[in-house]
Formats: sequence, structure tokens, C-alpha cells
Amino acid sequence: MAKKFHQPTRMCLACRQRDIQKNLFRLQCTDGKITSFNGVGRSFYLCQNCLQLDKKIISALMRACRGGDKDEHMNKLKEIITDDRKS
Ligand SMILES: [Zn+2]
Repeated sequence: MAKKFHQPTRMCLACRQRDIQKNLFRLQCTDGKITSFNGVGRSFYLCQNCLQLDKKIISALMRACRGGDKDEHMNKLKEIITDDRKS
């Protein structure tokens, strides 16, 4: 049976798996810093699996920001994830 509803999919920057948008974390890089997506500019997605794999997301974050500081990116990302789970 064909799927009745088409859900738009997005690609995880780290593992390149596609998933529906609500399963992915939407982030962006502004002035070399990782932030949650604020509706403006380019954004990228990370899946829940990759969020558990530091090494994998570091290289994705470095790519998204075209460089920067690994530790700073990771700290920002963890802040964003924690904030999101609280709200
Ligand atoms: Zn992924």
C-alpha cells in the first residue's frame, strides 16, 4: 500500500541518512558559532544517532562552520540540545 502522507525528508549532515524533519535537529552556523536555527540563513540537520557520536558530529560541525574550534562547537551543541530538551 502506498503511503498516504508524504513527509518531507532532510539529510543529516554527519551520516547523510535521510529522515523526516521532526526527527532531526535543525542547526545553523552564525559567525563561526553553532546555534539553533533562528529562521534566517542556511541551516543544516543532525540526526539523533549522530548526536550521540561526538567524532562524527565534530567533523560535520567543522564542515558546516568551515572551521572553527572543535571544543567550542561541541560545547555550543550540547547547550542547544540540553535547552531543547528542557523546553
Ligand atoms: Zn546522522
